[in-house]
Amino acid sequence: MEDCIFCKVVSGEIESNIIYEDDKVVAFEDINPQAPVHYLVIPKKHIPTLLEIKDEDQKLIGHIYSVISKLAKKEGIAEDGFRVVSNCNEAGGQTVYHIHYHLLGGRNLQWPPG
Ligand code: C5P
Repeated sequence: MEDCIFCKVVSGEIESNIIYEDDKVVAFEDINPQAPVHYLVIPKKHIPTLLEIKDEDQKLIGHIYSVISKLAKKEGIAEDGFRVVSNCNEAGGQTVYHIHYHLLGGRNLQWPPG
């Protein structure tokens, strides 16, 4: 998708601080961090919202959670606790239409979110 910011992160066209990458997934630091640890974990495949996830993507989504789990442990936030957020569409707070999972930690997070 030529106009997608996160596809450009994947291709390297837009600079980002990548902390993990494999053939299916990229994780990078959010440019506007909301917690001491705030990473975005995204599939390399362009999927606009959670609503377009297909049965064939189940393994990919499982892999994303496995990467999130490893990153949380590596960052030392696993034991204290952390949050994974995926916003969907406008009222859900989604601003970039390429699915992404926010990994937030390193402080006590409030509930419910605003
Ligand atoms: O869930 P939502 O779609 O609002 O999240 C998009 C996130 O992408 C924001 O937290 C924003 O700071 C981040 N972002 C980024 N790098 C960009 C553009 C947006 O980290 N180049």
